[in-house]
Amino acid sequence: MSEIIASAAIRGARSIVERADKEYSDALPRWGAAQAVGFPNTAYYLPIIYAILGLQINTLGDIAPVLEHCKRLLPPPENDAASSYGIPQALDAGMAALFAEEIIETLRYMITPSFYTKTESPTDANLWLGAADDVILRRRGVEFVDGSAPGFATILGAAPSKDIAAAIAAELQRRNLYIFMCGEDHGISFSEQLRQEDIQVGWPSRLVPFGPDISSVVFAIGFAVRVAMSLGGIKPGDAKANMLYNKERVFAFAMPLGEVTDEWYANAAGAINFGFPIIADSLIPEILASDAGGNDIVVSNVPHDKIVARALDARGLKINVTTIPIPVAYGPAYEGERIRGDDIYLECGGGRTQMVEWCTSRQMDEVDDGKIEVIGPELSDISAGTKLPLAIVVEVAGRQMQEDYEPILERQIHHLINYAHGIMHLGQRDIAWLRVGKQAAEKGFAIRHLGVILHAKLHQDFERIVDKLQVKIYTDNDHVQRITALARAVYAVRDPRIDSMTDETTDTYYSCTLCQSFAPSHVCIVSPERAGLCGSYNWMDCKASHEINPNGPNQPVRKGELIDPRLGQWQGVNAFIMKASRGNISSYNSYSIIADPATACGCMECIAAILPLCNGIMTVNRDFTGMTPSGMKFTTLASTIGGGSSTPGFIGHSKYNIAQRKYLSAEGGIVRLVWMPKMLKDEIRERFNARAAEIGIPDLLERIADESIGITEEEILPFLTDKAHPALTMESIM
Ligand code: SF4
Ligand code: ZN
Repeated sequence: MSEIIASAAIRGARSIVERADKEYSDALPRWGAAQAVGFPNTAYYLPIIYAILGLQINTLGDIAPVLEHCKRLLPPPENDAASSYGIPQALDAGMAALFAEEIIETLRYMITPSFYTKTESPTDANLWLGAADDVILRRRGVEFVDGSAPGFATILGAAPSKDIAAAIAAELQRRNLYIFMCGEDHGISFSEQLRQEDIQVGWPSRLVPFGPDISSVVFAIGFAVRVAMSLGGIKPGDAKANMLYNKERVFAFAMPLGEVTDEWYANAAGAINFGFPIIADSLIPEILASDAGGNDIVVSNVPHDKIVARALDARGLKINVTTIPIPVAYGPAYEGERIRGDDIYLECGGGRTQMVEWCTSRQMDEVDDGKIEVIGPELSDISAGTKLPLAIVVEVAGRQMQEDYEPILERQIHHLINYAHGIMHLGQRDIAWLRVGKQAAEKGFAIRHLGVILHAKLHQDFERIVDKLQVKIYTDNDHVQRITALARAVYAVRDPRIDSMTDETTDTYYSCTLCQSFAPSHVCIVSPERAGLCGSYNWMDCKASHEINPNGPNQPVRKGELIDPRLGQWQGVNAFIMKASRGNISSYNSYSIIADPATACGCMECIAAILPLCNGIMTVNRDFTGMTPSGMKFTTLASTIGGGSSTPGFIGHSKYNIAQRKYLSAEGGIVRLVWMPKMLKDEIRERFNARAAEIGIPDLLERIADESIGITEEEILPFLTDKAHPALTMESIM
């Protein structure tokens, strides 16, 4: 059986390489060898070529040797009659096909720049997103590593009908998988079928329309090899390690739907190199575990209602699907969906009405577990397009429950509600925002189901501290105003607790090693004045998380003897870092960007870098995609410092950390900040100004440059001079 597949894959690969060769020979004289090429906004060049061959393709001229290599990977046609080809030749041909397709796609970016949207979601006019940039890679790649997305399915072609397409997509989404869609079958694509069914496609809904051409398969595999390099620490050019990482860690498979052409066979062979099995709906030769040893490699003729289960089976994926008793689908795949305009049935908060969420602890006898009350109008009492005020009060009782855990449970409300299909949730606390879509309303979703979700999930995820839980939901103005006032009084006590603590007032810090699954030597040391660099954990959170889960990633760290108060170094902390990094990092300084700064994983909210000419420091947040005065964009900075190493001159940190007192205090703290994006200034303004006032420079933020002033050191220096920025007269930073 495998001979038929091998011959088809070799034929297909030949035609793909020939096509790349022809398009390249046409383009070269027109554009010239020095013409820059590449996928947008990435530090990984053409990622498969970079990962497997270690070659950085920057210009058209760089492509020629890769094409030559592709040709060498294919057996010459004159041997066909005499030879019988097997799996090894097919795998080589598959790899050649992938390299050639990356070339085809990069030429497409050069020749037809508007072919892909280069965004997270399609536009009305264009369905095809093209390659994921590094911002998407980091945001989504982390989900593969932390388990919120077990892997991805690459669908080639189209289902026989749009409702079969919708059913397959829903099955995959229910398993929290990403669905990468490439190519078409007889003029129709799976992505188009979903769109016809009014299903939201794009990265946020995990249904990713890469491209209409089969060559867009390289965007799926290019994503996987970049996960291995960026999060798995696999070196570019280490082909074997990359393939093994994907085989063992990235649970992916390919699902060709429709007629399997020679080109499809070639791509399938390419995918098999990475351990991704092929599950087809058509009758093609199979390579099963019984022939191959280990796992099924090619499974065919699978009925559409069984195809998802069969694929998971072939990949050995066990996924627990939790069912929550609500009338809409539920899971992380629905977290990012958007509900807009005419699709809105009910809207609460978001500046239109008041909305508040509050979690509080109660005595055991005050909570009737599972009781959900809606006080005020329900969804059935209102008409489409209504706006209501909303207060969600989660009351928890438990022998292990403590006041400190309330904010942790409260913070879950956002993603737990967002997981419901057709419900959108943004923000938190008294600035929350909720939309219920018409489709969800039609399916019978009611306001009380918000309580059903919170009851089921908080019990499940926080078993240790939640014994009993009830939810009260208010939708009438008087009650909502009253609850808002109550909640605000609680926030006013909660917030200053961490802000009033200093590193000196405690002898115990907390570690976070959650990111070690992909940055094995990375350790966050979280102290009262230094939050974790992802922005998700401050000292209080780590303390609570340790109590909830004593063997988890947040462990108490005794500071021990003070080694350097200025740089922030303690004996006990050093010993912990040494052990937790398995001997890779012997120590780091908590307060310095220059002298052995803290390690960085991949999920820092911001990256700070030294600007020598301005004698200061800049910082840039992940959401800012433009150039910065360091000469690098966020994505490039992230790949420079990430992966668990300590890089003098650079540091990853959270947004919250900027206004904390120990922020880069060894170099002078916020007084050194000379540049940050405008959006970041706006976001942290209130806390930053309070901190600036505390150090006697209340207008500091206005003296810090942003992209409207310039994006090079030379451009911003006159502004800083004009504003008499204090950094200019400080001692030299170098
Ligand atoms: Fe934990 Fe640090 Fe990773 Fe955040 S960045 S999850 S604090 S290790
Ligand atoms: Zn991280």
